[in-house]
Amino acid sequence: MCNCIEKTEQRYKEHLKENNKTFKEIEDFEVGFTNKAFLMSSCKTEIVLPIEVSWEHRAKSGRVSTKRKVSSFTMSYCPFCGEKKGD
Ligand SMILES: [Zn+2]
Repeated sequence: MCNCIEKTEQRYKEHLKENNKTFKEIEDFEVGFTNKAFLMSSCKTEIVLPIEVSWEHRAKSGRVSTKRKVSSFTMSYCPFCGEKKGD
């Protein structure tokens, strides 16, 4: 199984250190995808694709509010190299 997530994060960190004025002067900083999840099924950290559902909720009092729920889809293939996941 590939390690594209870690490699991409590391490469982006190096890119920022070399090309971004703000990060050239900072000793250390963290770079990480926000939509990562540890999947029990594979025991690996993978990128997931968040999907949001929102709707108007009417309470018994008549007050209307917006509710939202976020779920995540897992990907069958690595978004960076195309390797099939779960092999
Ligand atoms: Zn990959």
